[in-house]
Amino acid sequence: MSGEKVTILGAGLVGSLLSIYLAKRGYQVSIFEGREDMRKAGAEGGRSINLALSRRGLKALRAVGLAEKIQSACIPMHGRMIHDLKGQQELQPYGKEGEFINSISRSGLNKLLMDAAEKAGVQIHFGMRCSEVDYKNATASFENKMVSADWLFGADGAFSALRNSLLRTPLFNYSQNYISAGYKELCIPPNPSGEFAIEPHALHIWPRGDYMLIALPNLDKSFTCTLFYPLKGERSFEQLKDEAAVQDLFSSAFPDTLELMPSLQEDFFTNPTSGLVTVRCSPWAKGRTALIGDAAHAIVPFYGQGMNAGFEDCYVFDQLMEEHGGLSEELLLAYDALRKPDGDAIADLALYNFIEMRDKVADPKFLLQKRIEKRLNELYPEKWLPLYSMVTFSDYRYSEALAIGLKQQNIMNQVLEKEGVENHWETLDFEAIVGQL
Ligand code: FAD
Repeated sequence: MSGEKVTILGAGLVGSLLSIYLAKRGYQVSIFEGREDMRKAGAEGGRSINLALSRRGLKALRAVGLAEKIQSACIPMHGRMIHDLKGQQELQPYGKEGEFINSISRSGLNKLLMDAAEKAGVQIHFGMRCSEVDYKNATASFENKMVSADWLFGADGAFSALRNSLLRTPLFNYSQNYISAGYKELCIPPNPSGEFAIEPHALHIWPRGDYMLIALPNLDKSFTCTLFYPLKGERSFEQLKDEAAVQDLFSSAFPDTLELMPSLQEDFFTNPTSGLVTVRCSPWAKGRTALIGDAAHAIVPFYGQGMNAGFEDCYVFDQLMEEHGGLSEELLLAYDALRKPDGDAIADLALYNFIEMRDKVADPKFLLQKRIEKRLNELYPEKWLPLYSMVTFSDYRYSEALAIGLKQQNIMNQVLEKEGVENHWETLDFEAIVGQL
């Protein structure tokens, strides 16, 4: 057993999981969390906020014995339920029979991970916001004290204090980009009989070109909805200043939601409007410190992979610890070299998927491509896996999935250009298509 001291900044989803991995390897782990203990404070003010958990995240949870417990608190979502303007719904399965993603409460998952961390011997100190890190000595500064350890991890999210400190060191690269859309959380409560108001085993999408509404189910039979909408401009959050404007938007763009959302106006004007940022930086490791989760790679949420990627960071890091026989500066550098290309790839994929979700899912050409790819996968399962499946249901590295996906998309673009392909796609030469890979 190591006995070395480790500091983790942030008891969010990733910091809590990382602490369990490290504690299981015999490190003395202390987490310093800026907020108060959400298990006591009722952190979400009664709102349910949920996340899609998929294979990569579950694999990382399974390795520390938590997958089954967590899966029992999930609602499986088998596909996208697309709502058109007339209120008609169509289910687009995510993958093959039996493949699904899972809706889980963010705070429920975080609380469970904190409980498991403490059970594994991790000390969590709340109300401790780090202001500065000395990366050479793994020392973190807080309002009234400094804490030194052998190693320090920044799992402190998109606005990481460790990353801020590294910014002032030589050869540290950094970029931060907001997209033009922001988001607001809304709610579909259970119907008057106390049941789910719409199909619970799907991720609902109202795709409307340059904006969209989505909804994920909660165990209490409500849905958390998120409106992704431009932040500025003629049709934007900026213009949704009063109840009439909100009513106008929903009755013209999402008419079937009006009777499902009795507290729309209250939710709209109570809940914040937030921005969506992509953060890239390198290196992820310096001296005796490393960045992990959103602190290393905050991404937009459109692939439902931010947390999954952060959990996979922990899994990959643990495998490297196994190979290197414990923490060392060499291991931190190996983690950076291995994982950074995957962080970059999932950031690109997530940006691309915004266009797919808000726009393409309603496009007949996109649906035709899905049909052809499904057939290719049935005929040549070892050779052709659709990009969404590679990202969501496989162990391909994100960087591999992106490279293969781009190649496949080029091939599909040529197939889709063929005259009348929508009428005779079933007679395409599928072997020749796969042969181009
Ligand atoms: P965080 O969750 O941000 O946790 C960081 C922790 O550090 C927090 O507890 C914070 O209080 C603490 N902290 C911050 N600064 C300091 C400091 N200076 N000192 C001490 N503590 C500090 N991902 C998915 O996989 N699936 C989804 O469906 C999905 N949906 C999303 C929807 C939306 C709208 C958004 C915005 C994100 C979504 N994500 C999703 C992404 C996911 O939320 C993040 O990737 C995930 O929360 C990252 O976890 P983390 O622990 O790295 O960071």
